[in-house]
Amino acid sequence: MPSMPAALMSGAQKLAGRYAAVIDENRRISAHFVLLRCRDTQHDPARHVPGDHIGVRVSDRDFRRYTVLDTHPTGYSVLVDLVPDGPGARWARDVRPGARIVAPPSGRPLRPRSGSRHLVLGGATAIAAAHALTTAITAAGGTAVQAVEVPASELAALADLVPDADLVPSASAPGTALEERLPALLDRGPFDHVYLIGHAASLQRLRTAVRAATAMSRRSIHTQVHWADGRRGL
Ligand SMILES: Cc1cc2nc3c(=O)[nH]c(=O)nc-3n(C[C@H](O)[C@H](O)[C@H](O)COP(=O)(O)OP(=O)(O)OC[C@H]3O[C@@H](n4cnc5c(N)ncnc54)[C@H](O)[C@@H]3O)c2cc1C
Repeated sequence: MPSMPAALMSGAQKLAGRYAAVIDENRRISAHFVLLRCRDTQHDPARHVPGDHIGVRVSDRDFRRYTVLDTHPTGYSVLVDLVPDGPGARWARDVRPGARIVAPPSGRPLRPRSGSRHLVLGGATAIAAAHALTTAITAAGGTAVQAVEVPASELAALADLVPDADLVPSASAPGTALEERLPALLDRGPFDHVYLIGHAASLQRLRTAVRAATAMSRRSIHTQVHWADGRRGL
């Protein structure tokens, strides 16, 4: 389709205007992570909430999803894991301050469920989502145990950024370090809800392990897949 039909064009233009943002800062906080500070050109501070997902066009044909880590009076920040080295990671690494983006909401974020004790687990892409969940749970008077698996080289940079997370140094395969840590984390329960965020196969294994070790029902375990082996985008 060489040109977009007029009817679609007006919708696309409205969306572009509504969710336009400008990159204010691209900070390489560590070997694997970039923190992008985005200015919402609509200046609507209530538009984004930590934990929201945005969908960003990262190349002519590719869109990728990222999670709002925090908000500030003129916009929001996202934290991008550069490890996948696909179009999304390369865009995040190379995008320069002043670049204009369109970043509409994309998909339904995980929000805290009712209950007072929560366990939040995830991998490197889940840092923002886990931080947002923990903040919301605490604000509602609950307690959250949060553990995020990241490469050992990243621990120092992330400890300042997400001091509420228990950072677990990763092993060679994704999810295995969290699986090893799981019994100790479950000892800090019982939990009303468990949230598992990140690599698809790791989430499946963790869900099975949580159910084997506790009497928790399927409905108390909430998952959000961020990436899957061999799959581009999600
Ligand atoms: C709802 C949602 C929210 C997300 N929030 C964030 C976020 O806040 N921060 C963030 O960094 N990512 C986040 N992600 C994950 C991010 O969108 C993916 O990691 C993205 O697909 C990577 O894009 P890419 O173009 O670099 O690699 P792709 O082209 O998608 O993938 C290239 C290859 O790398 C593998 N791969 C993809 N992601 C990873 C990974 N993280 N680690 C190792 N291998 C990988 C794929 O299996 C594929 O083989 C989120 C995803 C979803 C669905």
